[in-house]
Amino acid sequence: MPRSNPSPAKPAPPAPASPDAELDPAGRVEYLRDRIRAHDRSYYELDAPTIPDADYDQLVRELRSLESAHPDLITPDSPTQRVSGAASSQFAPVQHRVRMMSLDNAMDADELRAWGERTGRRLAELGRADDVRYVCELKIDGLAVSLRYESGALVLAATRGDGRTGEDVTENVRGIDAVPAELVGPVPEVIEVRGEIYLPIASFHRLRERTEAENQEAVAAGRRPRPLPANPRNAGAGSLRQKDPAVTASRGLSFWSYQLGELVGVDAPPTHSGALDLLGALGLPVNPATRSCASLDEVYEFCAHWVEHRHELDYEIDGVVVKIDDLDVQQALGVTSKAPRWAIAYKLPPEERTTRLLDIQVSIGRTGKATPFAVMEPVFVGGSTVAMATLHNEDQVGVKDVRPGDTVVVRKAGDVIPEVVGPVLEFRPDDSVPWVFPADCPSCGEPLVRAEGEAQHLCVNEACPQKRWAAVCHFASRGAMDIEGLGETQVQTFMDLGLIADVADVFTLDLERIGELRGYGETSVENLRAAVDAARSRPLARLLFGLNISHLGQAGAEVLATSLGSLDAIASASLEDLGAVDGVGPVIAGSVHEWFADPGNRALVDRLVAAGVNTQGPERSVLPQTLAGRSVVVSGTLQGYSREQAEAAVKARGGKSPGSVSKRTSALVVGADPGASKVTKATELGVPVLDEAAFERLLETGELPS
Ligand code: NAD
Repeated sequence: MPRSNPSPAKPAPPAPASPDAELDPAGRVEYLRDRIRAHDRSYYELDAPTIPDADYDQLVRELRSLESAHPDLITPDSPTQRVSGAASSQFAPVQHRVRMMSLDNAMDADELRAWGERTGRRLAELGRADDVRYVCELKIDGLAVSLRYESGALVLAATRGDGRTGEDVTENVRGIDAVPAELVGPVPEVIEVRGEIYLPIASFHRLRERTEAENQEAVAAGRRPRPLPANPRNAGAGSLRQKDPAVTASRGLSFWSYQLGELVGVDAPPTHSGALDLLGALGLPVNPATRSCASLDEVYEFCAHWVEHRHELDYEIDGVVVKIDDLDVQQALGVTSKAPRWAIAYKLPPEERTTRLLDIQVSIGRTGKATPFAVMEPVFVGGSTVAMATLHNEDQVGVKDVRPGDTVVVRKAGDVIPEVVGPVLEFRPDDSVPWVFPADCPSCGEPLVRAEGEAQHLCVNEACPQKRWAAVCHFASRGAMDIEGLGETQVQTFMDLGLIADVADVFTLDLERIGELRGYGETSVENLRAAVDAARSRPLARLLFGLNISHLGQAGAEVLATSLGSLDAIASASLEDLGAVDGVGPVIAGSVHEWFADPGNRALVDRLVAAGVNTQGPERSVLPQTLAGRSVVVSGTLQGYSREQAEAAVKARGGKSPGSVSKRTSALVVGADPGASKVTKATELGVPVLDEAAFERLLETGELPS
């Protein structure tokens, strides 16, 4: 087992110093306890923490280390000595018959090993050191609950609260599909099941999308938008602890069971893995990613695996829980006042950190959109260093109330783009003032315009240098005309020299002049010439996408090119004709129509045509439309088709081939090494999963295997 953590995560920034931080350990201990208790209230009772978990954990660790250096300062009510959290008065109190505990944490391989050595020593004293086995489970980032079943029927669901008294959330839990109302098989008289209620990532995104749509309506009606839910854990906890069970039911929460509480009427299994088998046999969901390990090396392997693969799951985890399997051994090891000694939570690197917001700047995009973005002290979070993040628009900056000089929470989960969650108000400087959206474009100095009911500011100056630069960069980019050798830096150089002002100039570049520039030899000039030449024959959809028409994305450009057949037809189509194209909504139709009606844009198109770009759409498909209106997702490597060919084959038969599985998906086609999350989702949603042979039959006949 390696000695260090596989993550290069740095520690979170220090907490603000109390006046007598270094001088007086007793004062510092009191100060830390107060802060931890305040954060516990925000986290457990309000479901709205104000600092990331990593910063909270650091406060607890500092308190613990001060207490171990000064044992006389330990008091029974210290957050290190009791389960944090409390039952709120919003729900009726429930006394837990078997206490619900917290878990001690291991932050890296060394701490995991130290736990193994501690328990090993204790087990040696008991003469049980030889037969120790561990069960590793995913640490689901949700909210712990205890479910009580009597004669197989769910009679009570309670949150953890302070571990002794929780909150009665039975009615809310009844609306969660994954929690069975009735157990199956021979059922014990009484069984209490501990587990985690969580918000799956897909449900979290749905909730964000819903909030975003409501915000758009709010802005259009002149009302203030709401902050978007920041992460699945807090959104999940908030969703469960709703006053109205119907709201909880609408959020798509789910559940994994992982522990036995009280058990009456049957003998308790001798091991934890036996207990998990019992839960499964009774029809309770038990997470399949659970592994029994014979050594700490194997345990560590499991942890390291999930550091790498956590984002393949459809829910968030914040660690791995390692439990000693034998229940007698568990009993012998016992518990502290807060956590069992027989288990440890190996924490995964944090996906939320704090850093300093140095500035808020505004960038001008290719269609003139003015987007505020955060410039931050670089922070390592979620696997990479983050120094910038979009703040979307004026309202979002206002709703989050982030200000230059603030300490902010930054979140980055896997490949998801980084997000500024909000400020940490307790760190806000006294002289801080709200940020004001600039009146003028930072590039050309012309006034920025925000139309009524719109969230976005625009720079409407066609000559704006940043807008032109972004437009040419987009035109040359891989998704559009794909001109190798014409990246952001080169576009800037050529613009500075007056060689390019707009996208049509790309085809009349003065290559002789470019050849005289430093860093350009004969070969690079020839390569650029060839790349520009090749761009002339790009498909019409790429050209359309490259023209920087507001709201027109790749998919919209593709359906326009396929349905209307030529640049000329698209340019002269009426608003109705454009809107009648399947897949083109009124917003895109309006934007395309307006763009081509502009004389300046018509002149630009004429120059592009004169430069010899391809203006014809693809040949209309003559294949039978076996998949008309259906959606087929492809994942993994097929033998007879590249990914693009498989998707094109679906589209040529009238179907769609999106990148993700949803309940509207007709089939998932899998080749070698398909995406595990796609397969899991398809299985969950009952979407047929096809191999290559079945895919070919589907293409030919439109029929799914029975
Ligand atoms: P914990 O979250 O470290 O561990 C205990 C919890 O793990 C259990 O209650 C249960 O909910 C959960 N769990 C998930 N999967 C499990 C499994 N397979 N087996 C057993 N338990 C499983 O401890 P805690 O005392 O609940 O919470 C402390 C943590 O909560 C902190 O480390 C921090 O991450 C977070 N917190 C954050 C703030 C904040 O302000 N950001 C405040 C308070 C707590």
